[in-house]
Amino acid sequence: MSQIDNLPPLREVIATHQLSAKKALGQNFLLDLNLTARIARIPGDLSQMDVLEVGPGPGGLTRGLLSGGARRVLAIEKDARCLPALAEIADAYPGRLEVIEGDALQIDPLAHLEPPIAICANLPYNVGTELLTRWLTPPEWPPVWSSLTLMFQKEVAERIVAQPGGKAYGRLAILSQWRTDARIALTLPPGAFTPPPKVSSAVVHLTALPAPRYPANPKTLERIVAMAFNQRRKMLRAALKGAAPDIEDRLRSVGIPPTERAEQVSLEAFCALARTFDR
Ligand code: SAM
Repeated sequence: MSQIDNLPPLREVIATHQLSAKKALGQNFLLDLNLTARIARIPGDLSQMDVLEVGPGPGGLTRGLLSGGARRVLAIEKDARCLPALAEIADAYPGRLEVIEGDALQIDPLAHLEPPIAICANLPYNVGTELLTRWLTPPEWPPVWSSLTLMFQKEVAERIVAQPGGKAYGRLAILSQWRTDARIALTLPPGAFTPPPKVSSAVVHLTALPAPRYPANPKTLERIVAMAFNQRRKMLRAALKGAAPDIEDRLRSVGIPPTERAEQVSLEAFCALARTFDR
């Protein structure tokens, strides 16, 4: 393993601070600093950016971000056992790392940061999906963050970047792709983590677009898409019956055959359909 900083190897950090992985906190650690440095490079040049890292654990990714040159990192970690290890990293990078002990679902640390902001996290999957949804639906667009670099179960990552025509395509794809460029930057086998999870993982990189790809009211789009995919095997004229009595006319007016299923409908067409409700 090449040296990215003067701190001890992560296996030693874990032994010193007795950081046995807790399943309840979704702890699957990345101990290879070459790998964490590689993940930290995915958002690009961070030297003029503040980074929010959620769930730093023993700090592998944190060290990647700092050694890679991030202007400043704010890390929020729920497990108090990790704080001494993170304090050692803060000492090695004076004035550049601040750690908050807390639950990322309960506190919003974005207000503590100075834009431009990149968000980077290797989190438990359920927490990651919940936070992604929140970050993708702020009250105003563009959001305060410029990019999100997040680890997911590979199957979830595939749902984020999915195109129409397959099982993976649904609400998550539409929510993500409407206002960001989303791509899978890296896939990782279970063995990359300690302990290994059951399935493969993938890092998704999402860059905020300055404006939505196609105009639509966010609430209307969300409602239509949720209805359409809640009954994804039904034809849209049936799945969206409750949305408006004249739904068939609306579908036809934007070029969607009423017999089509949600899975076949492009993001652009969903936006056009949403606009028929806000005229
Ligand atoms: N980032 C580290 C790495 O890559 O090795 C740790 C990854 S581990 C998958 C997830 C981390 O998120 C753990 O350190 C866990 O304690 C922390 N965590 C879990 N739920 C959290 C929450 N709601 N808020 C903040 N941190 C959380």
